[in-house]
Amino acid sequence: HHILEIEHLRHVYPDGTEALRDVSFSVRHGESVAVIGANGAGKSTLLAHLNGHLLPHSGEVRIGHVPVDRSTLQEARRTVGMVFHDPDDQLFMPTVYEDVAFGPMNLGLTGDELKRCVAQALRRVDAEHLAGKAPYHLSAGEKRRVAIATVLSMSPDILVMDEPTNGLDPYARRQLIGLLKDFRHSKIVTSHDLDMVLEVCERTVVLSQGVVRADGPTLEIFRDE
Ligand code: ADP
Ligand code: ADP
Repeated sequence: HHILEIEHLRHVYPDGTEALRDVSFSVRHGESVAVIGANGAGKSTLLAHLNGHLLPHSGEVRIGHVPVDRSTLQEARRTVGMVFHDPDDQLFMPTVYEDVAFGPMNLGLTGDELKRCVAQALRRVDAEHLAGKAPYHLSAGEKRRVAIATVLSMSPDILVMDEPTNGLDPYARRQLIGLLKDFRHSKIVTSHDLDMVLEVCERTVVLSQGVVRADGPTLEIFRDE
């Protein structure tokens, strides 16, 4: 029943910084979990372990009960939909359509099947009308939604988003929150936007200096913090 299990995860950077000391928590199917914490708490380091961008010094990350290691890296990157901090890191093709088609094409989708997959991903973020546009010309909110679509088109088992409301104006932010609330996916979201967390994530994990300081229902965590 757990889609993601993180067990005694520890990561030390080459300069000796203990970014993650001992982090454990699990995410159930369909659950939305926020990971919050001050700058330097270890959030980015944690996210980088979820798709094998970094591998742990000790401890383990399991996705669908399969440990992420060198032999399972490819599968982990497919099942974990990672939406980066900066949408510009995710959008690199001439058109929105091509960006959203990139992942499923690599998985072997072609023809009508590919078109349907791209259309569906764009529809889920209210961005069908942007298919022919150059990502470069999009607004911040549009870029953010398209970046999410590039990941949704891969049918991830779990969606991981780093500061999804960062840089959005109030209208674009509201629109994005509305969409995120409608996703049935298991989600992990890092954010300093606590109002968004309150609306989108039923559970919150508080990281501090590389350890989990609190983990529980978002309302309770916010009351206590
Ligand atoms: P957060 O995302 O919560 O701001 P990070 O995971 O980026 O936290 O950083 C956790 C700790 O690891 C910080 O002390 C940070 O300075 C350090 N750190 C991050 N990346 C590196 C790196 N490549 N080399 C050395 N230390 C790093
Ligand atoms: P940020 O400060 O925007 O959070 P980082 O310093 O953590 O970015 O990461 C630097 C670059 O590494 C980013 O531009 C991003 O493209 C890439 N990156 C970050 N996290 C991951 C990840 N989990 N998997 C793959 N690439 C990543």
